[in-house]
Amino acid sequence: MIDNIQIGDFTFATLLDGVFPCGPELIQAAASTEGEQLFLGAGLPPIGPSPEPINAFVLKRGNRLWLIDAGCGRQLGPDFGKTHAALEALGYKAEDVEAIVLTHLHEDHIGGLLTDDGAAAFPNARIIVVSEELAFWTDPTSPAKNPDEAQAKFDVVQSALKPYEGKIESVPADSAIEPGVRFVALFGHSPGHCGVLIEGGGQKLLMWGDIAHSTLLQLAYPHWSIVFDFDEGMAATTRRKLLAQLAKEDTLIAGSHVRGIGRIRSKEDGYVLQLIEPGIA
Ligand SMILES: [Zn+2]
Repeated sequence: MIDNIQIGDFTFATLLDGVFPCGPELIQAAASTEGEQLFLGAGLPPIGPSPEPINAFVLKRGNRLWLIDAGCGRQLGPDFGKTHAALEALGYKAEDVEAIVLTHLHEDHIGGLLTDDGAAAFPNARIIVVSEELAFWTDPTSPAKNPDEAQAKFDVVQSALKPYEGKIESVPADSAIEPGVRFVALFGHSPGHCGVLIEGGGQKLLMWGDIAHSTLLQLAYPHWSIVFDFDEGMAATTRRKLLAQLAKEDTLIAGSHVRGIGRIRSKEDGYVLQLIEPGIA
């Protein structure tokens, strides 16, 4: 399995922030015979959970350095927040990050924007986020209009973005970020949830954000939702449409909660991720 790759002039590298247990309490449809079969088939207990990653990503071209998402920082406890160490281990410095492209504003993607004492962890970076997502989480009337979303989630967004005030760029979904890099609207998991498509040298790689939180469960059964979905129906429709499209394409995928990089292929009624291995990318 490989998790770093060259797409044209771009270097794309995975930064593992932490690993979370994904079981039927998060994907409730997995409390079923079908779920048991998948867990057992993966060598796990019949009720799981499956260990799933939280990833951020480096995108580099020449001497320009971007991040896609920032990991969760300490939001989820001491076992998380390893994005910074992973970045340094690859030889990069937080000060050199020019921009951070955010797929959406959930805590496991933005907590890492802050140091432990609440300052900007990437002092020279600007934030690039889709307008629909930014508007939802920063509109003061949103919490009252969306009582299902905990106030704490709005508070996390506010504190994560605060040190970047004046350096936040919001762009429409599906718009270009840089030549060869664009947002792809994949709404549903959050109001403005997007993937990031990287194109170069005749290759495409889609970092699909939170299209799946468990490839084990949600590629076999794409209609299975996770409790974190803002709009479960829309998230499932988005996932099914995207998987059907990717199954016919050569596009590589990476994900915030996906191990490795690969291609989506059809299998029975669902899909599988065919990971690329060293030497056959
Ligand atoms: Zn996530």
